[in-house]
Amino acid sequence: MPQYYFGMKLQIFVLFSLFTQIGAAKVEKPNMIVIMCDDLGYADVGFNGCQDIPTPHIDSIARNGVRCTNGYVAYPVCGPSRAGFMTARYPQRFGFERNPQYQPQDSDMGLTREEKTIAELLRPAGYHSGIIGKWHLGAHIPTSHPMKRGFDEFYGHLGGGHVYFPEKLTIRRSQDAKGESESYRTWLMKNFEPVPPRKYLTDDFSDEAVSFVERNRDWPFFLFLSYNAPHTPLEATEKYLNRFSDIQDPKRKTYAAMVSAVDDGVGRVLKEVRRHGLEEKTIICFLSDNGGPTSKNASRNNPLRGDKGDAWEGGFRVPFALQWKGRLPEGRVYDKPVSALDLGGTVVALSGAEVPEGKPLDGVNLIPYLTGENKGAPHEAIYLRQFDRNRFAVRQGNEKILIPWKGGKAQLYDLGKDLGESTDLADRFPDKVEHLNRLRIQWNRQLREPAFLGLLHLPKRKKKP
Ligand code: CA
Repeated sequence: MPQYYFGMKLQIFVLFSLFTQIGAAKVEKPNMIVIMCDDLGYADVGFNGCQDIPTPHIDSIARNGVRCTNGYVAYPVCGPSRAGFMTARYPQRFGFERNPQYQPQDSDMGLTREEKTIAELLRPAGYHSGIIGKWHLGAHIPTSHPMKRGFDEFYGHLGGGHVYFPEKLTIRRSQDAKGESESYRTWLMKNFEPVPPRKYLTDDFSDEAVSFVERNRDWPFFLFLSYNAPHTPLEATEKYLNRFSDIQDPKRKTYAAMVSAVDDGVGRVLKEVRRHGLEEKTIICFLSDNGGPTSKNASRNNPLRGDKGDAWEGGFRVPFALQWKGRLPEGRVYDKPVSALDLGGTVVALSGAEVPEGKPLDGVNLIPYLTGENKGAPHEAIYLRQFDRNRFAVRQGNEKILIPWKGGKAQLYDLGKDLGESTDLADRFPDKVEHLNRLRIQWNRQLREPAFLGLLHLPKRKKKP
């Protein structure tokens, strides 16, 4: 046998050992904390240029890490956006394309059991998972409660929103609330038990988040801090309102106070992470679940066009930043499109958790992109389908089409030059429209029709005479 054969074998052996060592080092099981606001506008954090609401703690995440200027969620309203985040898969793949109704008796009204949550994926990898705040993925406690979906602890509410003042929480048991609006007034649940109201909701969630970090500091954890602020109703305490005596519009003033309360909470969580020396072990992300509904809560999405619910950028491009001390560069601005689905994609990849066969994640591990190690784009395209609105959006590079799928004319925008989507270029570049439409057709083949009726399908309440 020629001598080079042994030499080659040795080289392969050395390479193989090196590779497995690198492979082993990659499974490092970082913690992940995702702080998600509800209906926060793109322009309502300091790191996106907000002037009238100081958000120093939220901004510190961008300063100590990466600000993603093109961060998308999977859908421009709460429920489907969260279903996407929670599974790291487009929710249209599994029929979660509407805001679920609050139906504690209906096990089909929410996240199908055919999908796995990030918490379910992370559990076999040794993670302890908690959700604090809004769930909104099903109110049927025996099957849809967060602790039936991979979470080890829950402190929050099952529905799509909540009142903030403890004295307004008048319904003890979550399963007794009839419909969405009553669900806003239930007591919060700690795991499966109703808890007597304690304090202003945002502060209450922040307390619980600090406690979560303290209690779980010694093992890998995933914390979803799911503030319902600044979703309506607009309610804030004097402590926070007093910070905004110079804002005249009462709606904007209360909204600002609510965002300020979140910022305080973010600061306390960051401090707790530092106190336990966990900064280098913890990826901390901040984002909103959809664009601001500007007329409802006085949020702002400028310079983006459109609001919550829209396929314009203002509907589903959100404030998006993440830090990971020692691993991500500090103060970097990343402009390629990323998605909320990537947060799960990142932690699942880093944890070494297995992904079920036949259900690949749409979310990718963002870390190599954010460090600059991978210069490519994380996604071939960003997709949105709004079944009930007869609408698709597809973005590739800076080009975006909006297209009705039951007939109608497509629009094309160049987001690089026209962030506000004011000049329709479809007639000038029909080939581009066709290319993006081909991507849409391909993607749409992988989707299902919505699996349940949504809030919009409820009979309209009769107005009192
Ligand atoms: Ca929302």
